Amino acid sequence: MRLLALIVIALVVGPLLGIVVDRAAGRLRVLPEHRCVSCHEGQGRRSLVPVVNWFQRCQHCERHKGMRYAAVDVLLAGSFGLLGWRFDDLRILVPYLMLSAVLVALSVIDFETHLLPNNVVWPSILTGLFLVLVVSGELGYEQGIYSALFGAGLLGGTLGLLHVVYEPGMGRGDVKLALLLGLFVGWIEPGLIGTVQRILYVMLVAFGSAGLVGLAYNAIRRRRGEIPFGPALAGATMLVVLVSPGLT
Ligand SMILES: [Zn+2]
Repeated sequence: MRLLALIVIALVVGPLLGIVVDRAAGRLRVLPEHRCVSCHEGQGRRSLVPVVNWFQRCQHCERHKGMRYAAVDVLLAGSFGLLGWRFDDLRILVPYLMLSAVLVALSVIDFETHLLPNNVVWPSILTGLFLVLVVSGELGYEQGIYSALFGAGLLGGTLGLLHVVYEPGMGRGDVKLALLLGLFVGWIEPGLIGTVQRILYVMLVAFGSAGLVGLAYNAIRRRRGEIPFGPALAGATMLVVLVSPGLT
């Protein structure tokens, strides 16, 4: 029942998230409607109706199909469902639902524009920090605050160092995203050593999967292309959150 409710919520949130994506990518003007990824023309109010918009095609250029909406909705419903299975306490579930919605939006934006815009990343970091502080206070989970801050510093610091050493490979947006991810990876269980371990897993999975996708992409396209790193980091974080013991 709860899983079903979460999936329905995901399908409603999906189109709204699409607006965030369009706005961040600079495609949205005034009306709340989706814009074509290809020609930037408005797609009408129908583009906001869940599931119906999966089958929509751009009437101006015919190139854009509803695949993007379907991908967002399926990713969101999948992660909401898995998080609902992972966390029992609603007070813990809600912050992680927020995280996953932000990560889906940022992954799509990074994929389409190769950018992780400040106007999405910074508000998410502040909201995440606020939720971690409030919920930890509510649960009497003070140690969780320390490991959350430590996690943010560790992942953000490590990627920040990589950014300084090798800028073309590690963008500044990735470093900011790492602050948000480290916060939630650290929060899940108290203790510094466990947090170091979880952050290491996130980096291993992220670099490993990005490397494999990059190799496959270059092999297929027969040329070197830039693969956005944000989606790999986001996916690795969700995986580590789902399999880590700790908060339930
Ligand atoms: Zn179009």
